[in-house]
Amino acid sequence: MNGNIQSPPSCSPLKLLSDEVARCTKCSELVKNRTQTVFADGNPQSPIVLIGEAPGRDEDKQGIPFVGRAGKLLTNILRAYDLSRDDVYIINILKCRPPENRDPTPEEAANCRGYLDAQIALVNPTYIICLGAVAAQNLLGTDQSITSLRGKWHTYKDHRVLCTYHPSYLLRAGKEAKKKVADDFDLLLAALKKDQSGEPK
Ligand code: URA
Repeated sequence: MNGNIQSPPSCSPLKLLSDEVARCTKCSELVKNRTQTVFADGNPQSPIVLIGEAPGRDEDKQGIPFVGRAGKLLTNILRAYDLSRDDVYIINILKCRPPENRDPTPEEAANCRGYLDAQIALVNPTYIICLGAVAAQNLLGTDQSITSLRGKWHTYKDHRVLCTYHPSYLLRAGKEAKKKVADDFDLLLAALKKDQSGEPK
């Protein structure tokens, strides 16, 4: 894909939202521990939004999602499908790093939900890829396991949703999990190709 990114002008709705997120003080523990909020990376005009869990240490330092070890693996997965980070829009369920990278609490996810939904509404992607159980379960409002959610299409509002394993899990998992992630990205690529060919979905 040929990323043709236009950076949001200083008064664009996404920039205003990002400024609002940067001022957020809803979760006192996260606010106390964060270096900064982590809003998004990539191309807000993309038809594909990737959703992770929450910033880790590297993301908290740099203010950019998925820049640590898991992020490098994600970048490599995208590259294997001829996609760059600028061909997708990358966000997280939480915009602040939970201490010691613990899972987001339900209250923190609820506090951040308005920002997530506003990002999705403003980017209006055709496709959403949930990376890991936290992203998938929060977005879809389910407690089903990532193993049962992956490998098939779901719907969130008007968006087609795939769920797959989180890159951090892939860093410690075996070949089988990597093959399943490849199968999930194959589903996305097949759908993108259909879109380009004008075939019905
Ligand atoms: N893991 C995530 O879920 N998000 C990030 O931004 C980094 C690591």
